[in-house]
Amino acid sequence: SDIGSQKERVVTEEEWLQKWEMGNIGFHKEQRHPLLQKYLDVLLNGRSGLRIFFPLCGKAVEMKWLADMGHTVVGVEVSEQAVKGFFSDHSLPYCEEPVPEISGAKMFQSTSGNISLYCCSIYDLSSSVVGKFDGVWDRGALVAVNPCDRQRYASLMINLVEKNSSYLLVTVSYDPNKHKGPPFYVPESEIKSLFG
Ligand code: SAH
Repeated sequence: SDIGSQKERVVTEEEWLQKWEMGNIGFHKEQRHPLLQKYLDVLLNGRSGLRIFFPLCGKAVEMKWLADMGHTVVGVEVSEQAVKGFFSDHSLPYCEEPVPEISGAKMFQSTSGNISLYCCSIYDLSSSVVGKFDGVWDRGALVAVNPCDRQRYASLMINLVEKNSSYLLVTVSYDPNKHKGPPFYVPESEIKSLFG
């Protein structure tokens, strides 16, 4: 499980903002992820009206899909352009408010109230601000986290979920010496040690 040269690689928040500004967002997909459709039953586990968290959400179309099913969706994304892009892509009216606990953060909420997107770094969140979640859709999130921040990310995620929660994680498998990432290669052994 050698992640090679990726261990040292850092992508700054500024670089992510630039990707959005330049339209360099090949990670964004217009179609729902086939693995979410395939494993939706695992995520829901027969339950309805869940609180579902999208870490590093971008403008993932699956947020609208799950909200339309009656779930409450919460996302976090550092790019305000991405957050506003989500609401405009789906023609959803929203309101914008500051987050008193997090300096500089804003929360964008659909007028219907079932989609709330925090515009700040995920590392600024805690369960005292966003509560706990019944489900997580982690696609392009753990694999986008800088390798040096993985432990911190995983500890935070463990803190943000309820005891009886389901966590769907998508990773990518490839030779980490051939691509610099992101997405980074996260070996299965590391996922086990991060999440237990
Ligand atoms: N999960 C989304 C986006 C994946 S790309 C999807 O499936 O389409 C990773 C996203 O994380 C980018 O939009 C980037 O702007 C955002 N991001 C990177 N670091 C972040 C951080 N520390 N906190 C919140 N968002 C972050």
